[in-house]
Amino acid sequence: MITNDELNELRTLLLAATPGEWHPGHFSDPQHSCNCLHVLSEGHMGAIATIGVSDGRLVSEGGNDAPSAGEAMANLLLIARMKNLLPELLDAVEGK
Ligand SMILES: [Zn+2]
Repeated sequence: MITNDELNELRTLLLAATPGEWHPGHFSDPQHSCNCLHVLSEGHMGAIATIGVSDGRLVSEGGNDAPSAGEAMANLLLIARMKNLLPELLDAVEGK
C-alpha cells in the first residue's frame, strides 16, 4: 500500500515538473512516418524527455542496449499518460 510520504513525494514531483498536458512523440503511433522519441508539452518547443530504443547491440559491442521497440513505445506512452492522469489518481487515492 502506498504511504502518505510516497503520496507527498508524488505531489511534490508533479508540482515541480513541467506543467500542462504531455504528449508522446510520433514513435508511439505506428501509422505515423515520423519516429520522434520525445515527450513533448504544450509550453515548450523542445522535448521535455526522450526515450531510448534498442539499436540491437549491447553496450559492450558499442550499442545502446536500450529497451526493445515495443517496450520503448509503451514507455513513451506511459510517461506522458502518467503525468496527465497523476493529479486525478492522487485525488482519488486521497479521497478528494
Ligand atoms: Zn515526430
